[in-house]
Amino acid sequence: MRRGNLYVISGPSGAGKGTLVARLVEQLGDAWVSVSATTRAPRPGERDGEHYFFLSRERFEAMVREGGLLEWAEFSGNLYGTPRASVEQHMAAGQQVILEIEVQGAFQVRAQMPEAHLVFIEPPSLDELERRLVGRGTETPESVRRRMETATLELQRKNEYDYCLVNDDLEQAAQDLLAFVNGQAEEQSGD
Ligand code: 5GP
Repeated sequence: MRRGNLYVISGPSGAGKGTLVARLVEQLGDAWVSVSATTRAPRPGERDGEHYFFLSRERFEAMVREGGLLEWAEFSGNLYGTPRASVEQHMAAGQQVILEIEVQGAFQVRAQMPEAHLVFIEPPSLDELERRLVGRGTETPESVRRRMETATLELQRKNEYDYCLVNDDLEQAAQDLLAFVNGQAEEQSGD
């Protein structure tokens, strides 16, 4: 069986990665989104094992030591990482695998899996990003401030990605992402 492709989706917190990834999965049908491990506290409505695996710092660090994470990074004071085994399993089963992760992790994935396709989702502007983060109603002012600082750093690396799209109009952005993914899949089936 042909191994599934790996897509890494990054972009500032609040850029709309989650919504675009959900759309992509709906449209592709055979895609699987990795569930990350994190030390951050669940937001209201987030369920363990569905949105994240919520772990203590000790348990997270043990996973790192045991080599259980494909990549991991500290973001805004919390640790986040991708469990390795499930990514391998779904790729081996021929599924398209999607990781929604920040930039440091994205480049760790590329170093280990150069065939991964890296996509960066950009907000229309920093002002709009701040409006979206505040509008979520889940971030404290301090968390918004830290996420905005990190966003500026993340945006500096967008040119290192294979594909970059601006999430101004959601419909257009969803179409652009799907077209990119379909294009990669066609390239691979042609080789
Ligand atoms: P949030 O706290 O808003 O859920 O996520 C904060 C940031 O961490 C987002 O940019 C998100 O994409 C990123 N993130 C989520 N899971 C992972 C992961 O497994 N690894 C890395 N490196 N970043 C992650």
